[in-house]
Amino acid sequence: MDKEFLQTLQIDQHNHGSIAGFDTMVGDEEISSSSPVDGTLIGRVSLTDAGNYEKIVIRAQSAFEEWRRWPAPKRGSVIQAFGQLLRDHKDALGNLVSYEMGKSIQEGLGEVQEMIDICAFSVGLSRQLYGLTMHSERLDHRMYEQWHPLGIVGIISAFNFPVAVWSWNAMVAIVCGNACIWKASEKTPLCAVACQKLFCQAAKALGAPAAISCIITGDHKLGKMLTADQRISLVSATGSSKMGKSLAQTVAARLGRSLLELGGNNAMIISKHADIDIAIRAAVFGAVGTAGQRCTSTRRLIIHQDHYDLIKERLKMAYSQIRIGNPLDPSMHMGPLIDRDAVHAYLEAIEIVQRFGGNFIVSGGVIEGSGFQSGCYVRPCIAEVENHYDIVQKETFAPILYLIKYQSLKQAIQLQNDVPQGLSSSIITEYLKEAELFLSASGSDCGIANVNIGTSGAEIGGAFGGEKETGGGRESGSDSWKSYMRRQTNTINYGTTLPLSQGITFDF
Ligand code: NAD
Repeated sequence: MDKEFLQTLQIDQHNHGSIAGFDTMVGDEEISSSSPVDGTLIGRVSLTDAGNYEKIVIRAQSAFEEWRRWPAPKRGSVIQAFGQLLRDHKDALGNLVSYEMGKSIQEGLGEVQEMIDICAFSVGLSRQLYGLTMHSERLDHRMYEQWHPLGIVGIISAFNFPVAVWSWNAMVAIVCGNACIWKASEKTPLCAVACQKLFCQAAKALGAPAAISCIITGDHKLGKMLTADQRISLVSATGSSKMGKSLAQTVAARLGRSLLELGGNNAMIISKHADIDIAIRAAVFGAVGTAGQRCTSTRRLIIHQDHYDLIKERLKMAYSQIRIGNPLDPSMHMGPLIDRDAVHAYLEAIEIVQRFGGNFIVSGGVIEGSGFQSGCYVRPCIAEVENHYDIVQKETFAPILYLIKYQSLKQAIQLQNDVPQGLSSSIITEYLKEAELFLSASGSDCGIANVNIGTSGAEIGGAFGGEKETGGGRESGSDSWKSYMRRQTNTINYGTTLPLSQGITFDF
């Protein structure tokens, strides 16, 4: 396979994960990154040890001291330069995402496009970090609020969106005046190294302080070090609900701030009034895209009883046309799972579904033979289940789609909500009253609720995140920037007396 994209991104056999600003900090140990596409070792990245971690935090602190004084629109110009570098390197970075993580090249490029989009959004935001003004109850007083940066924002990211999720956080946090320290997934460290190199290029060109963006490399132990560190004002973490529950307690114990983007268990309701073609396309992309490894992947289809048999037949037909193979080949719909542990979890889930009495209408299994030697390629499968099965209540990060039948919309919404997670949801219906009920306060309890599109594929302009065990955080668009800043209320007396609020008198 031609790996020119690695050279373009300056990815070598030995890479330095702990780059603070423009310097490299080489650790004694390394982690390796092998591609799930073909099992090849792509490269190694030096691990961040405790000594280097300390140096990086100190660098980030001093970068913050300077960066917070830069006018926000000037900060935006650094993000603009980074956005341009991403445009120039979209192809190479998209290929690396696809090769290191295993998602289709279309989705790899889409992830980089999402980064470009959040850069554009953040540049605009740099002139819109608005606060409110209020009328004071006191004579000759003025009240207003303003937003200041927090300090150091720690970003912990998952393997499945190895670059985009970092940029949702970092671009907004940096434009808000913070310094960021990124601990990427230990499964996709090279994507982080590539992003960091490009960001440093942009920062250097515009004379920005070196360490406004730093990366640290390691597994959950390093994540825990970052989480427990009092100097990290906000920890924004993306990953499993298990990780979030542990992390949230550590951050709360030091009264720090956390922003959590955790697991989903997303359902699509296919109504009696659905456009069936739209429903099938949305369901198949939602369940099979990224090999079922999106937080917003469609895991459950809740289907009206009148369409149930038809949908089953249409899904079987659609699944028979899915092309599985090397994700860098644009004709493939689906690549591998991230690693053999993920394959194991997928096989285990299938076995549990069968033990519960679930009925597979499209069977799964590991794909073997030429072109599949990494051992990470599996077949997407579909099972008829009951919503209350323990295994259905959990998020299995693999292409397993569950079918559930319903009779009334009220029952469908209840089934949709009856899981511990609350990330994304959708309804396919042509009937306005159904759509409105689904979106109402008595409808979906998720952070994302869509009509006539699937559960996955969010745009950066909206606030992204979910409720319940998904963690409650919101990232990316809308007013999510407020999570990366602290609010300050200011009251100014321009009069000649000192009236007290609530009419209190205190004369002496
Ligand atoms: P994971 O929880 O195993 O790891 C995520 C990150 O957290 C990694 O960087 C890991 O090193 C770190 N980590 C793990 N335990 C930690 C701890 N106790 N303290 C600090 N850091 C810790 O998740 P994963 O397998 O990489 O990703 C898949 C999961 O991420 C799925 O559950 C998926 O739904 C979720 N996800 C959610 C969103 C969202 O926006 N809601 C987006 C992408 C992925």
